[in-house]
Amino acid sequence: MHAEDYSATLRSSSLRVTKQRVAVLAAVDTHPHADTETVIRSVRESLPDVSHQAVYDSLHTLTEVGLVRSIQPSGSVARYERRIGDNHHHLVCRSCGLIVDVDCTVGHAPCLSPSHDHGFAVDQAEVTFWGLCPDCRSGGSGPSDQGEGSPEPLSPDV
Ligand SMILES: [Zn+2]
Ligand SMILES: [Zn+2]
Repeated sequence: MHAEDYSATLRSSSLRVTKQRVAVLAAVDTHPHADTETVIRSVRESLPDVSHQAVYDSLHTLTEVGLVRSIQPSGSVARYERRIGDNHHHLVCRSCGLIVDVDCTVGHAPCLSPSHDHGFAVDQAEVTFWGLCPDCRSGGSGPSDQGEGSPEPLSPDV
């Protein structure tokens, strides 16, 4: 996407087009599930003087109008992404924090029905799948699986 398209995107949400907002949109586009620090670093590549506050403000505004989606898996800082409105879900690695998109679990939103809807008209389900990513599964550098010496074998004869 080029800067003009981001301008059009902003205008279509009745937002004033500012350099910061365009740069923040571009940053979130390039770095899906980026945290605020990553967004700031990326924005500074094109706008070296931008302040933390300006980036926070832009992220907040863009999230509020729905141009950016904010997710926050428990134990993680807020992450931002441009894939919005498609009811997709996330796989989160417990070990390294990697976040991967997964499509709606049955194909159309909402993909899950609560056991009791309590009278709500449900239109979205947000699911976080927790586990270990392929790297962490094969890496063996995890803190808990340093099992170099095998456990004492039980001696069969007494
Ligand atoms: Zn991992
Ligand atoms: Zn996502």
